[in-house]
Amino acid sequence: MLGTLRLVVASGNAHKTAEIRRILGDFVESVEDLSGYPEIEQIEETGVTFEENAEIKALAVGRVLADKAWILSDDSGLEVDALGGEPGVYSARYAGENASDVENRERLLEQMSGLDARSARFRCVMVLARGGQKITIFEGVVEGVIARAEKGERGFGYDSLFIPEGYSETFGELSPEVKNSMSHRGRALEQFKLWLTNIDHE
Ligand code: IMP
Repeated sequence: MLGTLRLVVASGNAHKTAEIRRILGDFVESVEDLSGYPEIEQIEETGVTFEENAEIKALAVGRVLADKAWILSDDSGLEVDALGGEPGVYSARYAGENASDVENRERLLEQMSGLDARSARFRCVMVLARGGQKITIFEGVVEGVIARAEKGERGFGYDSLFIPEGYSETFGELSPEVKNSMSHRGRALEQFKLWLTNIDHE
């Protein structure tokens, strides 16, 4: 099974798909995004937890693709302790519907101005599905702190504001290899790799 699995990532976020493709490498035959499936319409993320939204996305895409591919969804975001866990599931739309990454980062810095308690974590929940059925779930977390100003041009989303535990650089400064080796997405995908290695899925 290993290396022969065709995976479709249930996300319109090209950065996520690129990271997933890079992290999985030869573990799967291919990692596609939704750009090749125009019949799949915008999926409303109506859940209030990462798990609910990950399931909504995986099952919506799985219903359309039926048994043609395995579907892996990624719902993720940033939880800031001093903000009661915000932006959380609303990370992509923290500064409003259709907000850009820049606007979301500006809002976060604004909300945290003057705050000394800066602990936070990125969380990623992935649901694996096939034919509209949920198979299993993977979760990854990386702890860290929110920087006082943006640093680094790499990555996407809140990367230039997040300093992972044990480092002094933001994800926006660290190389993709270093980010992927410890990130919430990298950790969720480690579990996926383990699942692929241990189970005969055919
Ligand atoms: P989703 O599409 O609802 O899962 O939105 C996830 C949002 O969380 C993204 O738009 C980013 O703002 C943020 N996010 C998730 N993962 C990362 C990451 O690895 N780096 C930076 N921001 C992230």
